[in-house]
Amino acid sequence: MSAATAGAAPTSEILRLTDVGKSYGNVHALRGVSLSVRQGEITCVLGDNGAGKSTLIKVIAGLHQHTEGQLVVNGEEVRFTSPRDSLERGIATVYQDLALVPLMSIWRNFFLGAELSTGWGPFKRLDVRTMVRTTDEELTKMGISVPDLERPVGALSGGQRQCIAIARAIHFGAKVLILDEPTAALGVKQSGVVLKYVAKARDAGLGVIFITHNPHHAYLVGNHFVILNRGNVSLDRSRQEITLEELTNEMAGGAELAALSHELSTAVPAPDTTGR
Ligand code: ADP
Repeated sequence: MSAATAGAAPTSEILRLTDVGKSYGNVHALRGVSLSVRQGEITCVLGDNGAGKSTLIKVIAGLHQHTEGQLVVNGEEVRFTSPRDSLERGIATVYQDLALVPLMSIWRNFFLGAELSTGWGPFKRLDVRTMVRTTDEELTKMGISVPDLERPVGALSGGQRQCIAIARAIHFGAKVLILDEPTAALGVKQSGVVLKYVAKARDAGLGVIFITHNPHHAYLVGNHFVILNRGNVSLDRSRQEITLEELTNEMAGGAELAALSHELSTAVPAPDTTGR
C-alpha cells in the first residue's frame, strides 16, 4: 500500500446534487441545492427548523421526488420513485425513530426484514445461530459491546439503539449513510458515543450525510459543512475553510444573532438597587 493510500483513502464523489429543488404546490421546500458526498467523508447538513433538512433526506432516500435539478449517484443521474430505488443504490437512511421494534431482541432487529433461513420446504426455519453470530461479529467490529443479544432493543439506551441501526446499515452494504439528527434526543455522553460510530462509518469508507442542528456535534466529526436556510444553501465549506466559531455563528444567523443579543441586552431591566 502506498503512502497515499495508507490511512485516509483517497476520496471519490459518490453522490451529487446539482441545483435540486423541491416544491410542494407553491411551497419551495428546497431551491437550487447543490452538494456532494464523498466516500470516507462526513458531509454535515445543518439548518434550523423548516430549513429543508427533512425534505432533502426524503429526496435522497426516494420518499419524495425532486422537482428541479439533478441527483447523481456514482456518476449516474437518478430519479428515485420509491425508497427501494434508493436502497438498491446503496443509500441507507437511519431515521430518528430508527425503525427498530422495541420488544424484539437485538439480533432480530439487526436482521429485521432480511432474516436468514436454513433448510428447505417444510423444514425451512430461521437460521437463528448464524444471525446471532453475525450480529455479534458486526457489533464487535464496530466496538459496540452488548452483553446479551437476546435483550429487547427497547431495554437499550437511545445511543446504543442508534449504534445498532448504524451497524446494521453498514452490514447490509450501505455506501451512503444518511443520519437524521442522530444526537438530537441524546445527552452529552450518549451523543459522544454515537458520534464515535458515525466516525467509524466514515472510516469504513461510507459517504455519510449527517443531518443536525448542532454545530458542535457536526464539527467534532465533519469533513464538510452545508447550511440550509429556508430551503437554500447558505454556506458550503470544507473543514479547512471554517472554524467551529464561524460555523456556530453562521448557523445562528450571524448578524441577526448579534442584533438580537444587542436588543436583549438593552431590554433587560437594570437590577433593582433601591433596597426594597
Ligand atoms: P426541516 O426538516 O429542516 O425542519 P422541512 O424539510 O421539514 O424542514 O421543511 C421545509 C419547508 O417545507 C417548511 O416550510 C415546511 O413547511 C415545508 N414542507 C415540508 N414538507 C411539506 C409537505 N409535505 N407539504 C407542504 N409543505 C411542506
